[in-house]
Amino acid sequence: MPEPRPAVPISEVVDQLHALGVEPGHVLLVHTSFRTVGPVEGGPAGLIQALGHAVGPQGTLVMPSWTGDNDRPFEPGATPAAPDLGVLADTFWRLPSVRRGTHPFAFAARGPAAAAIVSDPLILPPHQMASPVGRVLEHDGRILLLGVDHDANTTLHLAELLAGVPYRNPMHITVLRGGRPVRMDYLENDHCCQRFTLAGGWLKRLDQQKDGTVGHGAATLTRSRDVVDLAVGHLTRDPFTFLHPRGSECQECALAWRSVPG
Ligand SMILES: [Zn+2]
Repeated sequence: MPEPRPAVPISEVVDQLHALGVEPGHVLLVHTSFRTVGPVEGGPAGLIQALGHAVGPQGTLVMPSWTGDNDRPFEPGATPAAPDLGVLADTFWRLPSVRRGTHPFAFAARGPAAAAIVSDPLILPPHQMASPVGRVLEHDGRILLLGVDHDANTTLHLAELLAGVPYRNPMHITVLRGGRPVRMDYLENDHCCQRFTLAGGWLKRLDQQKDGTVGHGAATLTRSRDVVDLAVGHLTRDPFTFLHPRGSECQECALAWRSVPG
């Protein structure tokens, strides 16, 4: 059995975040694999405390908080965050000072910009300018990837829509209408997202991404504006940049390819 890793003290995590470039006053959208970052003193709540210290009282923390359950209506005070969002996201929205969106593509936020970022009504497909990722962009927010790569970077879906990519996959959610659950079908620019990791190379080449360590995990900090501008540029030259090539083994990308006219 390997020795268990020691829990990183909260004060050291704050120092790591500052070394990475997180500053007081930042609007910080955080995507996390706590398994990769931990253990941290105080567990997931301790890591949230460290993130709060790093952005200070004038900063705003934002995390994805959507449901993974498409077949039941979303209840903001009860529905767990999707399992693949991880324990940090599911811990964050439950804290009393955190505001959570009210629809199935909810984000959660804490800080002065929280209401402006998470309060937009449901919009489909979900990741547009009038959605949390768009509001983070408007607030010149930073994106922090903790133990995850850009395949977890939802803001790239916003870039796809801004660039007008031609693929859409059929999806559904369940909403309440007059107190009854109703299935809503819609089309979303979705795929496996593995090729979102290309963004890391683009950003590094332009020195627009800072890499370091937070807790025990690899961490990446970048500006939402830089991510979107770069991705829109690449997608304008090749709208299929983020899809596995036509005819590849990837079922999700194959579905996206099938939606393309011609
Ligand atoms: Zn794929």
